[in-house]
Amino acid sequence: MAALLAFASLLRDLLVTLVLAVCLSIGLREGAIELARKLLLVVRQLPGINWVIGWVLRREVRGFLRQLDPNSFKTGPKVGLAIPQKGLSQEKLLDELKRRKKVEIDPHTGKIFAYVYTSKDARFDTVEKAFDLFQWPDSASNEESSQDSKSAIVKMFFHAFMHENALNPLVFPSLRQFEVETVAMVANMLNGDGNCVGTVTSGGTESLLMAIKTYRDRARSLFPSIKHPEIVAPLTVHPAFEKAAGYFDVKIVHVPLNPNLTVNMTEYKKAITPNTILLVASATEYCYGMVDPVEEVSQIAMDKGLPVHVDSCIGGFMLPWVEKLGYKVPVFDFRLPAVMSMSADVHKYGLGAKGASVIVYRSASIRKYQIFAYPEWPGGLFASPSMAGTRPGGNIASSWAVLQCMGQDGYTEVAKRLMEIATHMKEGIQSIEGLYVCGTPHMTIFSFASSDKKLGVFALADLMETKGWKIERQLETLHCTVLPSHTLESANDFLKDLKEACLTVKADPSLAKKGSAGVYGMVGVIPDKAIVKDFLIEFFNEVYS
Ligand SMILES: *Cc1c(COP(=O)(O)O)cnc(C)c1O
Repeated sequence: MAALLAFASLLRDLLVTLVLAVCLSIGLREGAIELARKLLLVVRQLPGINWVIGWVLRREVRGFLRQLDPNSFKTGPKVGLAIPQKGLSQEKLLDELKRRKKVEIDPHTGKIFAYVYTSKDARFDTVEKAFDLFQWPDSASNEESSQDSKSAIVKMFFHAFMHENALNPLVFPSLRQFEVETVAMVANMLNGDGNCVGTVTSGGTESLLMAIKTYRDRARSLFPSIKHPEIVAPLTVHPAFEKAAGYFDVKIVHVPLNPNLTVNMTEYKKAITPNTILLVASATEYCYGMVDPVEEVSQIAMDKGLPVHVDSCIGGFMLPWVEKLGYKVPVFDFRLPAVMSMSADVHKYGLGAKGASVIVYRSASIRKYQIFAYPEWPGGLFASPSMAGTRPGGNIASSWAVLQCMGQDGYTEVAKRLMEIATHMKEGIQSIEGLYVCGTPHMTIFSFASSDKKLGVFALADLMETKGWKIERQLETLHCTVLPSHTLESANDFLKDLKEACLTVKADPSLAKKGSAGVYGMVGVIPDKAIVKDFLIEFFNEVYS
C-alpha cells in the first residue's frame, strides 16, 4: 500500500513539476499553473490513481481530526448503535444533558466569533439554573406523567441547544455527537449496519431533496454520458420528489398503479431507460398507507446495477415496531441489498419536535455526493452537508433525546395502540354502506372512498367539518393518519358522526355541488392540470397576503 501510494504521488508530482518547470522556463507563469491543473485532472483519470488519492485523503483527514480531538475521533471498528430497548429515565438523560452541555463552548464567555447571535439568556445562565427553572413532572408512576416527563426531556434538550449551530461540526462537539448517534440509531432501526452514515435534516422534504441531489451528483460523476437523468418512482411518491426534480433538474418518471392500488411492476420495469439513475419506493406511501413492493424493486435494481432509495419518512418510525408486533409487513429496508438510502422523519412517528428527519446511506461512498464544498470563498473553506447553512442545534439534540427516552419498548407500545385504533376505524368504515377502505394499508395510515354515486366524499368531508372534525381531502378519497392523540373513544365518535353524515349526504345529493365540495369536485374533473396548478399558485398568493 505504502509503495503504491508513494509511486502515485511521485508520478503525480513528477509530471506536475515537469510541466511547471517547462512553462516557467519559457516564461509562462499563468499558463503554467493552468497546465499543471489540467495535467492533474488527466492524471486523476488514470486507473487506480483515484483510489490511491482517496485513500491518502482519508488518512490525512483522519489524522487531522484525531490531532484536533483525540477523544471524539477514535479509531477502531464501527459498532452499530441502537435505540435503547427500554427508554432511559429522566434522571439519566438529565445527567447526560449536563455532561454534554458542559463540553460545549459557552458563547457567553465572548470567546467565539460566529454562529451564536443571542445575547446572554438570563434564564439559561448556567445549565443548573435552567434545570431549576424547568417544571418537571413529579413521578413517572402512571402513564400520563411518564408521557409528560418524556415531553419535558425533549423540550429541555431543545432549549439547551437551541442557540447552537451545526454548520461547523468542530465548534460544538456534543451537537456533532448527537447527530452521529441519532443517524446510527435510525440506521440500526432500519436494519442497516455500522457502515451506515447520514445527516439529520429539517424534515422529510429536505431528506428527499438531499437524496435526489446525491444521486444526481453520483450519476454526474460516474456516468457523465447521462445528460438527462431520470428517476423512476410510483405515482404515489411524495410530491417532495417532484419538488426535488424541479430544484435539481432531473426527471421523475411516475409509474401507474394497478386497480387494487399496488404499483404496476410491469410498468415499473418498462419505465427504466439508459437515463435512469435511481429507483424509488415508499414504505409506506402517504396516500393509502401501503408499503411498495420494495423487494421486487430491489431485485430489478440488482439486475440493472441501479441504487434504490426507500422513502420511509412516515413509516420509518412505525413499520419496524408494527413488524415486531407480528403484523404482516413486506421487507422494506436495508435488509434488501439494492437499498442504498432511506429517509425517516423524527418529527412524525419518531414523536420528536418539528423540524427533524434523518437521511441514511448504506455507506459513506454514497453520502459523499450529498456534501457541498467550496474552497474558494475568502471567508474560509466552506462545506455543508445539507440544504441549510445554519443548522439549528435544538432539533438535533432533541431528536437524540426523544429516541433515548422513548426506547424501542416505548415506540412499540405506541405502535400497538395506534394499530388497534386503525384496525377499529377501518372495520368501522368498511361496515358503513357505500364506503370502503382503499387498497391494503400496512400500518396506521389509510384512506377511504365511496362506491355509491350518491355519496360524494367531499360533501361528506364538509359535513364532518361542521361537526368539528378536520378532514384530509385527497384527489378522490379522504385520508386518515392515526395519531398518538387518538383513542378508541375518539375513533368511535368519528365513526358515529361519519355514519350520520353518510345518511345526510345520500338524502341530499345537492350537497356535492355546494361549499368546498363543489370546488374539489370541479377541480377533480378539470382535465388540464396546468390550470389547476395556476389555481394552486394563485391560492397560495392569496392565502399569504
Ligand atoms: C411527510 C412525508 C414526506 C415529507 O416530509 P415533510 O417532513 O413534510 O417535509 C415525505 N414522504 C412521505 C411518505 C411523507 O409522508
